[in-house]
Amino acid sequence: MSALRPSPIAPTVDFDRDGIQHGFLRLPYSRDDSAWGSVMIPICVIRNGKGPTALLSGGNHGDEYEGPLALYDLARTLDPKDVSGTIIIVPAMNYPAFRAGTRTSPIDKGNMNRSFPGRPDGTVTEKIADYFQRDLLPRADIVFDFHSGGKTLDFVPFCAAHTLPDKALEQKAFDAVAAFAAPFSMRMIEIDAVGMYDTAAEEMGKVFVSTELGGGGTSRAQTVRIARRGILNVLRHAGIVEGAVEKSKTRWLDMPSGDCFSFAEDDGMIETMVDLGEPVEEGAVLARIHSVGRTGVAPQEIKAKMSGMLAARHFPGLVKAGDCAAVVAVEV
Ligand SMILES: [Zn+2]
Repeated sequence: MSALRPSPIAPTVDFDRDGIQHGFLRLPYSRDDSAWGSVMIPICVIRNGKGPTALLSGGNHGDEYEGPLALYDLARTLDPKDVSGTIIIVPAMNYPAFRAGTRTSPIDKGNMNRSFPGRPDGTVTEKIADYFQRDLLPRADIVFDFHSGGKTLDFVPFCAAHTLPDKALEQKAFDAVAAFAAPFSMRMIEIDAVGMYDTAAEEMGKVFVSTELGGGGTSRAQTVRIARRGILNVLRHAGIVEGAVEKSKTRWLDMPSGDCFSFAEDDGMIETMVDLGEPVEEGAVLARIHSVGRTGVAPQEIKAKMSGMLAARHFPGLVKAGDCAAVVAVEV
């Protein structure tokens, strides 16, 4: 590998200092309204002696709120005396996107979860990805990245990990998913795993756990409660925070193949025919897309390619060709 230049990001925290520090990852960003300005990404480091390191993030996509709500809260309330090891908290990873309330960055349109491994001499989003890739991920034993559906998707609340070629690593990730104890636990596959933070962490041999907790560009009381309890459970399970895992019933789901995804093939107004969490049979109509340009046109039907349960759906009332309309998962 050719030598990469150092990251331009300067942390204002010391990762090896005991106690709690609230600081920033300062990323120089020269622009019209601030010639020598910076993007100031909030970071909290909680360390108490030797032990494993957890790297926790929310706001990888800027319009997903359960993660940031749980992580700002954790940074404010966790007592270093209850910690053994280190917890690094970045509650709003793509901070420019988070401030704009958008999935991608308003500066460069960068989708953080398609920007890994990033570049130290790239766009703002690529520079943040590069810092996680080369500076933060190598410090971590367990990596937890919160997601929700954002403005365009809605999910049944689940914690998830991927099936991996390294079965020992996969088992550690699913053990952490079980500890999170969301109402649902998912064995997840990706539409396209290239450039994802998940993939970067897993290829480095890190235990990587994620969530999809609701969506629609907002949060709900129930999903925020799940996020707050779940992340403490994972930290307790990892032996980093004192106390017992608060057990709760979870239903395991599997995404057995790409047939679980259904995509719209027309623009129009979408009518959901099945609600989240409801059972579906193969061939059942999941949604109908109504043409709105004229009256008298029969709606297009989106049918389930497999039996299971509706795990995710398109959220806005209008849909475009190519949008993910529905995801069916199988209960195991
Ligand atoms: Zn996301």
